[in-house]
Amino acid sequence: MVREEYWEKVRSAKEGQKLSPEDILFLLSTAEREEEEVLFETADRVRKDCVGDEVHLRGIVEFSNFCAQNCLYCGLRRDNHALVRYRMSLAEIVTAAKNARSQGLGTVVLQSGEDPWFTRERIIELIRSIKEDTDVAITLSVGERSYADYLAWKEAGADRYLLKHETASSTLFRALRPGRELGERLQALRWLRELGYEVGSGNMVGLPGQTDEDLARDIQLFIQYEFDMIGIGPFMVHPQTPLARAASGQLNRTLRVLAITRIITRDTNLPATTAAGVLDQNGRRRAMSAGANVVMPDITPPNYRRHYEIYPGKARVTLDRHALTEMISSLGRRISQGAGARIRSRDR
Ligand code: SAH
Ligand code: SF4
Repeated sequence: MVREEYWEKVRSAKEGQKLSPEDILFLLSTAEREEEEVLFETADRVRKDCVGDEVHLRGIVEFSNFCAQNCLYCGLRRDNHALVRYRMSLAEIVTAAKNARSQGLGTVVLQSGEDPWFTRERIIELIRSIKEDTDVAITLSVGERSYADYLAWKEAGADRYLLKHETASSTLFRALRPGRELGERLQALRWLRELGYEVGSGNMVGLPGQTDEDLARDIQLFIQYEFDMIGIGPFMVHPQTPLARAASGQLNRTLRVLAITRIITRDTNLPATTAAGVLDQNGRRRAMSAGANVVMPDITPPNYRRHYEIYPGKARVTLDRHALTEMISSLGRRISQGAGARIRSRDR
């Protein structure tokens, strides 16, 4: 059953009216399948109206799994001694990025743990070498670094930066990322914006101890910071972390956060996350029908990819080009040919 009030709130959100924090929480915390359907269908409609049927692909190269941080949720955390560590050479990373371009991917995301071996200068060299003879857009996702690093990388030609805020609860953030503060992460996100990066952020859904109120706060933060891209993925349990006994996030709850974010933020780029695909065979497909318009194929060479185990099962669900094209066209959508920068609805 769909409550009248639920219809009303979804309708007013779709029409662009501002939702209060209580309204967001109300939409988020439904337990009714039919209400969820209304939410997902509305998000799909808003997606179609605001960003169209094109699906943007971003090739992701996971170039180092060394990490100085100790996030409780992540398999790359420094105290996970069971993990085989690797670092791709600069030449290997450049080759992977150029391959992405020749496969028709307009954007390459260079991601790693927080690895100090990759100094400011080495990353500059990487950006310059990639940009030398390709026009691929470069997204960096290498964690929290200094303002001077972000500045130097922007000047070297980096286009975008992906840094999830993870959770808008400062208490949860502090508990899950020892020694780190939410405020520092938000400061980094403001700097990136000031420096002219297109900024991607996002959260995890279903972290131990996370409430619907916390998730509603995540959505408010997305609105406040006007991110260009927002990655919303379920938390996945990794057995070699302190959260081994916790439960993974649920797909439907993740999709509710995604759908509300689409309805409210309208023209942002929202990926169907890999984690959704690991949680459920149809997870990415369902995300594509609940507001998502981006997919991030993993183009890390397979011998490294299997060791980039942020959570288990990641490497298993890699979609090859054929499977990806099938999935997208079966949804009546098409792969975009450009770099997929955010185009704000008002500039269309
Ligand atoms: N070190 C960088 C980038 C690599 S981690 C950083 O932390 O920003 C990339 C993302 O993986 C993180 O932002 C986090 O949201 C996600 N992640 C880490 N552990 C996860 C888990 N167990 N389940 C789901 N997502 C996870
Ligand atoms: Fe390192 Fe990022 Fe994993 Fe935290 S989430 S341990 S910073 S790779």
